[in-house]
Amino acid sequence: MSSFDSTTDPSLRAFFDIPADSDFSIQNLPFGIFRPSQRHAPRVGVAIGHFVLDLYVLETSGFFDGPALREQDVFGDRWLNPFMDLGKAARVEARKKISELLSGKDERLKNDSDLQKRALIPMDQVVLELPVQIGDYTDFYSSREHATNVGTMFRGKDNALQPNWLHLPVGYHGRSSSVVVSGTPLHRPMGQTKADDAENPVFGPSRLVDFELEMGFFVSGGNELGSRLSMQEAEDNIFGLVLVNDWSARDIQKWEYVPLGPFLAKNFGTSISPWVITTEALEPFRTKGPVQTDPEVLDYLKPARPDQTYDLRLEVAIQGEEMEKPHTVCVSNFKYLYWSMAQQLVHHAATGCNMRTGDMLASGTISGPTEDSYGSMLELSWRGAKSVPLSNGEERKFLKDGDTVIMRGWGQGDGYRVGFGECAGKLLPVKS
Ligand code: CA
Repeated sequence: MSSFDSTTDPSLRAFFDIPADSDFSIQNLPFGIFRPSQRHAPRVGVAIGHFVLDLYVLETSGFFDGPALREQDVFGDRWLNPFMDLGKAARVEARKKISELLSGKDERLKNDSDLQKRALIPMDQVVLELPVQIGDYTDFYSSREHATNVGTMFRGKDNALQPNWLHLPVGYHGRSSSVVVSGTPLHRPMGQTKADDAENPVFGPSRLVDFELEMGFFVSGGNELGSRLSMQEAEDNIFGLVLVNDWSARDIQKWEYVPLGPFLAKNFGTSISPWVITTEALEPFRTKGPVQTDPEVLDYLKPARPDQTYDLRLEVAIQGEEMEKPHTVCVSNFKYLYWSMAQQLVHHAATGCNMRTGDMLASGTISGPTEDSYGSMLELSWRGAKSVPLSNGEERKFLKDGDTVIMRGWGQGDGYRVGFGECAGKLLPVKS
């Protein structure tokens, strides 16, 4: 079923040295937005080893001369959106040309040291920006393990999953204005909370700030208002994936969420990793998702292919201000998601809701079956009932001011890695 192309050939190597454990192998080629320095305007680049390949330099030199990109002018843009809007053909064509130039199959970059100086910029010299102008942001709740854990905590084991959960991907409309790129600090939010034994709510700093280990994807293309997407169309309309930390204020959430779901508890910030890994690069990591026959999913959500998920290792680490290095608190995997990204997209558009290039859909917290694979402090501390030990002797139930949360994720190939880099963010005190 898998449609491997030459860009994901495991034997492919760049003409310069890339460590085997680098996230940014020649098979990866993730797209992002960067400034070569503070003086330069942002443009489109590709992460490769310790470098960023400047696609604007390649575009203005006439390297993208295939049918999908020849007449286009997309890599000098401040956002990935114009490129994403060209659809799958342009993505595939760009990857092929970039792969040829970096492998030396097309020798024009390999043999031109002046072009290399202009087009390959050391990663530590660039400024990475938010890659996509995000239209709408929708957050799902697609991990059965996570939904079961949270449901067990709040409603008991027998009613853990709501009656709809195994029939549709549950989600809510989020807030795109506060989506930030990795490295951007966020402030602890103020909000209204009510203690179980208190008569009245109070307004003050949230005391239960949490992370949520998620992955998000960007829509490329979409559907007209009033029309729907098939599962196959949905596969083709997914541009690529990023790591997502959907920061959450559990005490605000608990008081506000009945009956319309999360609102302010989730809108004070959402962090994403800067590099968008295309579905083409993730093709070798395709794997079968959880069985969806009990109950059988409705026809419009039946997968177009059996291997509808990805085997991607996911990690979360916390580094407090007193800690010398981050401490890993969770190791999970993308494959634990019950509902696939294509199912989320199809369901979202099922009413005729128009999905647009640049929309971001996130998975919901991705928890695995074991206690060390839970993707939030809510689950790791079991609602604050136990403490999570850190390597320097400190412990946490929820996040403390000054904590930096670092998420990583990658697919492990044979001798190479397709990784997302970091999604990191520091929690600052309430802004005075
Ligand atoms: Ca979430």
